[in-house]
Amino acid sequence: MNSVQLQQTTASMSSMNATLSTLPPLSPTNDPWDPIRSLRRHGRHRLTSVEMTVSNLCNMRCEHCAVGDTLVMAEPQKLPLKQMLERLDEVEHLETISITGGEPSFSDRTVREYMVPLLQYARSRGVRSQINSNVTLPYSRYEQLAPYLDVMHISFNYTNADDFHQIGFAKAGHSVSRVAAAKLYDRMIDNARRLSETGVLVSAESMINYRTFDKIDEIHRLIAEMGCKRHEVHPMYPSAFAKDLPVITREQMRQSIELLLSKRDPSIWMLFGTLPFYHCSDNKEERKLLARLASEPNVTVRNDPDGRNRLNVNLFTGDVFVTDFSDVPAFGNIASSKLDEMFDRWLDHSLARSVDCHCPAASCCGPNLLVKDMYYKDTDFHTKTALFD
Ligand code: SF4
Repeated sequence: MNSVQLQQTTASMSSMNATLSTLPPLSPTNDPWDPIRSLRRHGRHRLTSVEMTVSNLCNMRCEHCAVGDTLVMAEPQKLPLKQMLERLDEVEHLETISITGGEPSFSDRTVREYMVPLLQYARSRGVRSQINSNVTLPYSRYEQLAPYLDVMHISFNYTNADDFHQIGFAKAGHSVSRVAAAKLYDRMIDNARRLSETGVLVSAESMINYRTFDKIDEIHRLIAEMGCKRHEVHPMYPSAFAKDLPVITREQMRQSIELLLSKRDPSIWMLFGTLPFYHCSDNKEERKLLARLASEPNVTVRNDPDGRNRLNVNLFTGDVFVTDFSDVPAFGNIASSKLDEMFDRWLDHSLARSVDCHCPAASCCGPNLLVKDMYYKDTDFHTKTALFD
């Protein structure tokens, strides 16, 4: 780098830092990924969030992986970054971007040529950013991203290295030694701690499933010890890749959440998402749980962003989806359409309409598509309304 380039880089870094300092911190009262915010602000759903899939490579093969059936050993070229940036530029109300995979940082080249520039773009526009990663690779990968990144989202469903070994390589197709797995486990913990120390909001997500529902409190304790500032909790819904896993009942999910609420570290932001419980439910216990979640400090329930304020772009094909793991086929491509136009087309889709209800008093804007399909197939949410006891 010559001195002119160095001066330009330093100038643009300080302007990005200035942008960051004017943005309100992410907190339980400021979660721009929640579609209820844009619905309130605009009076209708708007595209405010774009997720980009930048890798189908991963060093792990988790039992529960939502995109496990798309993982490959070698992947094709991605679209030019410029094309993606131009499409992002056209999104009028963009507030957040997310970068996902596979393990998005699997290739150092992808980190340098796509992820860092996308994060720099977001920071310079005052848009918040998230990366979904397993953070098991050498810290140098994540160190390049940290200066521009708001949220590092990791999965954490373990109580020790043995859990990690069993769950993280369940679909590897070959045996992975416990020693090798334990090394990655320790590195993941170390990386999460280091990222947290640099000021990145490390948000660990746990799934409530047949393995975790009765030890979610222990998982939470380890997440707090790792220095994570947020613990995100979602029930697991079997996607295509994980469809053969045992399913737990709604009652078991409810009890697991109650356990977590009783044992949690109150200084950690607890973010619940894609819960199968709604304020319009006939089940009083479920409504009671929602009331408890609403009243506890440092606890939020995020409405489902998929297809409400967010779309997913596959950077290999340009195809646009509701989410990276949805069975709903692509409904457009960035080669031929603007993202805002595709989003408006999606809102007109019968599937989008089937979950498009809104009860302002409950801060709820309807069920997730997978949840509706699994538990509420015959329910017409348009005929329901939030109940308060
Ligand atoms: S918005 Fe829909 S799902 Fe939520 S409480 Fe109202 S009717 Fe039920």
